[in-house]
Amino acid sequence: PCSSLAVKRGEVEEVETQGEGSTRKPVFNYHGIDQDLLQEMVYDALVWSSLHGLLVGDKSVQRSGKVPGVGLVHAPFALLPLSFPESNWRQACELSPIFNELVDRVSLDGNFLQESLSRKRVCPQILAADFSNRTKKADSFTSGLLEIHSKMLKMNKKEEIRMGLHRSDYMLDEQTKLLLQIELNTISSSFPGLSCLVTELHRSLLNQYGEVLGLDPRKIPDNSALSHFVEVFAKAWIEYNNPRAAVMFVVQAEERNMYDQHWLSAVLKERYPFDLYNTHNITTIRKTMAEIDAEGELLADGTLVVGGKPIAVIYFRAGYTPNDYPSESARLFMEQSSAIKCPSISYHLAGTKKIQQELAKPGVLERFLDNKEDIAKLRKCFAGLWSLDDSDIVKKAIEKPELFVMKPQREGGGNNIYGEDVREALVRLQKEGTDGTAAYILMQRIFPTVFPTFLMRDGICHKDFAMSELGIYGAYLRNKDKVIMNDQCGYLLRTKISSSDEGGVAAGFAVLDSIYLS
Ligand code: ADP
Ligand code: MG
Ligand code: MG
Repeated sequence: PCSSLAVKRGEVEEVETQGEGSTRKPVFNYHGIDQDLLQEMVYDALVWSSLHGLLVGDKSVQRSGKVPGVGLVHAPFALLPLSFPESNWRQACELSPIFNELVDRVSLDGNFLQESLSRKRVCPQILAADFSNRTKKADSFTSGLLEIHSKMLKMNKKEEIRMGLHRSDYMLDEQTKLLLQIELNTISSSFPGLSCLVTELHRSLLNQYGEVLGLDPRKIPDNSALSHFVEVFAKAWIEYNNPRAAVMFVVQAEERNMYDQHWLSAVLKERYPFDLYNTHNITTIRKTMAEIDAEGELLADGTLVVGGKPIAVIYFRAGYTPNDYPSESARLFMEQSSAIKCPSISYHLAGTKKIQQELAKPGVLERFLDNKEDIAKLRKCFAGLWSLDDSDIVKKAIEKPELFVMKPQREGGGNNIYGEDVREALVRLQKEGTDGTAAYILMQRIFPTVFPTFLMRDGICHKDFAMSELGIYGAYLRNKDKVIMNDQCGYLLRTKISSSDEGGVAAGFAVLDSIYLS
């Protein structure tokens, strides 16, 4: 790219950038590193990952997504931590509790969610277009969630205990040096377990090799994601106040990232063999949506029972894509139950891209938050976000598609539209006289700094140019008026090769990384 968008006071302007080759000074000389030293570090890192559970299921082994202990391979990781400005790191951490509160407030405004997400649903012509299979699925998926949400509104269902385990993702824009939010995940925020391990791996390597590399292990900030998540489970369980009830992980039938999830249940069991009063066991169970459909019951008093066990907390690590739903009924009766949902349907919807775009409109944050400083902090990290109703922006995006990303209402990576495809999609939507633009949003494309790095995958070390996305985990728990927890809790750095639009650790373009404060 030779230019990027700058968004100032709602105005969009184009600015020249130095192009893709521009790099930030890396923490040490990647090109001049001694090859023997590199091989030694690679070997040690692979041993460390294997011994400490920095693992995923191996794609090439068929049963690796179903049977634990079969076909394990180290999770893809960066060999060394990435230099990241301390001021931006602090800024991202500070934003976390504000976003937690924002999600909670937005979740309580049922009309705002319904209006923003259901306005101008997709028209039939768009569904007929080539790329529409995806659109249609994505959109009927959002409609299905909205349907459940609307049923809850009609029932006047109240969630008194509300629990959020979010992850807000950011990129550092090279040109403006601004920390800009990519998205806020309110469902299935992944890697709280493995990200902590990568931090430990990097510290361990720097403890050994830091001196020769000129790197100080103390500059890698603590990563508390795993222990914080587990603490929220335990505290939520206490609030639910049924000693026989279990924490249920809702999972996909095949999950190669299962160890990240097992870390949570294992540490929960280890750290809280008994509850905080030392009286009762907290057990966890794992169920797919189909199993919940088949085995779940909703008792008259609202208790959700699955496989004979009452459920205190439902933790969704599935349910963010239509593929996870054999039918909507499981999600519906979970929502109707008194179990604590992480997330509830309202929290889930509050984390959609359409809501992100609505919240970025002038005056909207003010509807949900009172503190002016907090509002200013949030707004500072908003990139340009537009609805497809905005014809000036659509025109601009057709002229310069490389400056935009087009996003459907989907999660889990691999769904966005980039470059020439943006133009094509927009032109097609226009031709078809579309009214169905709520299915997408347009976002300013962010161009982060590109730097050289060592990426480890399948036991092989590659040197490549890469860029990073910082995710900050946030934990929120409240019971009625009592806020029990509202914290920033750990981070995930994902480093992806710069030639890939999306990245994605599971997809094979990104690796887990940690931060080296500079
Ligand atoms: P998902 O919910 O599928 O993860 P994201 O909004 O995070 O959707 O987009 C997926 C990926 O696409 C991000 O991890 C990032 O690599 C890239 N991406 C998303 N938005 C932008 C943007 N505005 N500028 C540059 N890259 C982006
Ligand atoms: Mg997401
Ligand atoms: Mg994402």
